[in-house]
Amino acid sequence: MKNTVALSDLNWLEFDRRLKADNPPILLPIGSLEQHGPHSPNGSDEMTTRLIAEEVARRMNALVAPSISYGCRSVPRTGGGNHFPATTSIKGRTLSMLVRDIIRELARHGVGRIVVLDTHFENEWFVIEGIDLAMREIKMLGYTEPTVLKVRYFELLSEEVIERVYPKGFPGWALEHAGVMTTSLHLHLTPDLVDMSKAPDHGPVEFPPYDIFPYADRPGTETGCLNEPLSASAESGQLIFDQVVTELCNVIAREFN
Ligand code: MN
Repeated sequence: MKNTVALSDLNWLEFDRRLKADNPPILLPIGSLEQHGPHSPNGSDEMTTRLIAEEVARRMNALVAPSISYGCRSVPRTGGGNHFPATTSIKGRTLSMLVRDIIRELARHGVGRIVVLDTHFENEWFVIEGIDLAMREIKMLGYTEPTVLKVRYFELLSEEVIERVYPKGFPGWALEHAGVMTTSLHLHLTPDLVDMSKAPDHGPVEFPPYDIFPYADRPGTETGCLNEPLSASAESGQLIFDQVVTELCNVIAREFN
């Protein structure tokens, strides 16, 4: 079935028509291929981000560009570390170049409003570098400069929702890898991909406030989770999803109009 908000499902004539009619915002989801504990899928960051982007696009008459499905390496105290099977990372420079090229190409086609949706913790500054390089190239090439928003969706959650989702206390986003938030989102959006019987029950993993290399044989997380995902629920997932989608629509309406 055709996904009417997916840029890759349109043909060039349809895209051209949309561009000329209302120059729709284009959302670019960025994720990772990285272990997300014994209970949830390796493509978690990309999947959750794309599904949020698609719902926003349906509500805002926007389009979603194909995701960047790979991300940058973690260390044990962020995503568990690059030594886990399945964690397949690209270099920071590679990510920056991908982001730069995609934004420059969208601008070449005349896209005026771009939302870069970045979730994977370790991508952040490489994504910013890519956007910055794109804006310089776009200027040098004489294309019309687009407005680019860069958003990490979890930063849109209110304190009230965070308190409801984390009744035992919020451990901070770095420790939320494969924890309550993404597990809840999966229970709401892709329940077939979660096996809660495999969810570990350890609390937040404790780390010293620095990194040591090589780290593969150092204490870290054995499960791949940095916090227990057991208090995740489909209800929390719906709460998170609804607020993130609503807030993202508000941000887009406010910044682009
Ligand atoms: Mn991640």
